[in-house]
Amino acid sequence: MTTPIRPDVDSLVDRYGRVASDLRVSLTDRCNLRCSYCMPPEGLPWLPGPEVLSDDEVVRLVRIAVECLGVTEVRFTGGEPLLRPGLLKIVSTAAALAPRPKLSVTTNGIGLDRLARPLREAGLDRVNVSLDTLDTDRFNRIAHRRRLPDVLAGLDAAAAAGLVPVKINTVLLRGVNDDEAVPLLRFALEHGFELRFIEQMPLDAQHAWNRADMITAAEILASLRHGFTLLPDPAERGGAPAETWLVDGYSTADGRPARVGVIGSVTRPFCGDCDRTRLTADGQVRACLFAREESDLRAALRGGADDADIADRWRVAMWGKRAGHGIDDPTFLQPSRPMSAIGG
Ligand code: SAM
Repeated sequence: MTTPIRPDVDSLVDRYGRVASDLRVSLTDRCNLRCSYCMPPEGLPWLPGPEVLSDDEVVRLVRIAVECLGVTEVRFTGGEPLLRPGLLKIVSTAAALAPRPKLSVTTNGIGLDRLARPLREAGLDRVNVSLDTLDTDRFNRIAHRRRLPDVLAGLDAAAAAGLVPVKINTVLLRGVNDDEAVPLLRFALEHGFELRFIEQMPLDAQHAWNRADMITAAEILASLRHGFTLLPDPAERGGAPAETWLVDGYSTADGRPARVGVIGSVTRPFCGDCDRTRLTADGQVRACLFAREESDLRAALRGGADDADIADRWRVAMWGKRAGHGIDDPTFLQPSRPMSAIGG
């Protein structure tokens, strides 16, 4: 088989014909929770300050992605992005780009009660908030921090500020919160939030992930069907990671049918339609969450590279994107960076 030659196009195309237009930007590897499936209770050795991109460097890379590489959506994540002091400035600068990208944040919700309105005013379109349980003791056990009331306040503030649709991300853990699929969906429907369950992935810092312990997409759907009737969703999925279902008999406040989603990254991979490119807080481009290779844009930035040079390095990095994440391959190796240092 001949190796395809990289076409001379602006966009972030890979050798399998996928085009990345959705950029995930990690703003910090630090977090104020210690979710057991993500990092150990004592935390991790954080990136040293000088290695983290400055606000101006982040903004410059986002601008190059939007203006030169065809990126149309930017999601700020981490670690916990609300911990980044320059977040509002970064969002407002990204919102002033032309063409204006869609802007969202994935957050654990802590501090959103205070930041939701300023973020909306800065130009943020919407948020994803992570919530694995409605039970205080379980929350404390999973996250190792007593912050459930802050998360719930953050969700309410996001909705009140118009950061909609507010989506909730939930990871179910066997024997811990795997009986909460129905209560969490009920909570989401009552409050007008869109719930997404995410299969647990081998991206924890402890390398303790074990396929047998993972609650699969099929199990999640079976649990949900004990409380709800799920109908096929006629909407186009596109590159969205979540498969969605309509929840029979429920609608959103503005009259649209209510939906629930399942992100079956492990058992129902969607790599063939993946349209994501990732930038870590220390300026490394990753073509995939599970990539073992990175391209150092920070060195290029700090070495004086111009926009065209940086854009081309980014294109080369994405051209090398693998066909799939390879979790099922016997040679699969978990990436050395955990999820918190990649940006989920
Ligand atoms: N701190 C923010 C938050 O909590 O949403 C953003 C970063 S966090 C890494 C992004 C999402 O990744 C969260 O919804 C979290 O539950 C999820 N996550 C973290 N580790 C995961 C894993 N091993 N498998 C699946 N999802 C994971």
